[in-house]
Amino acid sequence: MSATPARRILAVVPVLALLALSACTAGGTIHARQITAKQPTPSAPPSTSPSPTVKPTPGSLDWYVSQVPTFPEAPPPQPVPLPATGAAQFWHRLPTDQKVAFITIDDGGLARPPAVPDFIERAHIPVTMFLNSPAAREHTDYFRRIVAAGGVVENHTITHTSLSGRSYDYQKREICGAADTLETLFGTRATLFRPPFGNHDATTLRAAHDCGAKAVFHWTETVHEGKVRYQTPEKVVRPGDVLLMHFRPALMDDLLAALKAIHRAGLTPALLEDYVLTEAPTT
Ligand SMILES: [Zn+2]
Repeated sequence: MSATPARRILAVVPVLALLALSACTAGGTIHARQITAKQPTPSAPPSTSPSPTVKPTPGSLDWYVSQVPTFPEAPPPQPVPLPATGAAQFWHRLPTDQKVAFITIDDGGLARPPAVPDFIERAHIPVTMFLNSPAAREHTDYFRRIVAAGGVVENHTITHTSLSGRSYDYQKREICGAADTLETLFGTRATLFRPPFGNHDATTLRAAHDCGAKAVFHWTETVHEGKVRYQTPEKVVRPGDVLLMHFRPALMDDLLAALKAIHRAGLTPALLEDYVLTEAPTT
C-alpha cells in the first residue's frame, strides 16, 4: 500500500554535523545528516537548528535525533508472497532473510508524546501503527503527522477486546468497523491487522481477510520504557523481526532502544508494508 520505496533511516551525526549545519545557508548544499541511504527524499533542513556551540540537552528532540545510529542502506524489498486463501496469513515475524527489521506501534489511546512525530520525521524512522479506531478518530491530527513522515496506519480493532473464541460476526464487526473508520480518516484501507493482546483463532484470520487484511502480525520483541525484551532465546534482532511498542509516555525512549537493537544486529529498520505486500487488497 506504500507507493514509496523502502523508507530509510538517515541518521544524524551530532557534533561535527551540527557545526556543518551552522555553515549551511539557505539553499546551501551542506546537509547535517550523514546520509547512508541513496538519495534522500526531497526534504527541508531540520526545522530547529541547534547552536553549534551547544550540545543537545539530554532528553531534547535534538538529543534523541543525535543518538540515532547510522544504518546500512536497507536492501531493495523482495516482498514476501502471500497465499491466496480465504484467510489472512498469520506471522510472528516476516519470513525473509533480508537484513531488515520492523518497528510497530500499537493502540493510540493511552499517550501520544508530542515530540514523536517530529522524531520520526527528522530521523526518518519507518513505523507501522496498529491503531484502535476511536483513538485514531479522536487524535487524527497527531497520527496524520506520522503518516506525513512516512508512517502507515493499520488495524487494531475498535474496542481492543480479545477476539479469540468470539463469533465470526463479532470479530468481523471489530475488524471491519475499525478498517472502515481508519480508511475514512486516512484515505487508505488497512492491509495488515494485529489482534489485541495477540489473541486470535482461525475465525480471526478469516474475518481479517474478509475485512481486507492480507496478513495478521504478532511480534518477536517488545519494547517498553527503553528496554527491549526478546521473545526468542537468541536475544538478538533477526532479519524479518517485528518489534512491538505502544503509544505510551516513554515512546521516544522505546523508539531509540529499538533502533539501537536493530543496529546492534547489523540490520536496518524498514517499512513492513514494503516487504510484505505486492498487490492491493482484493476484498
Ligand atoms: Zn493493543
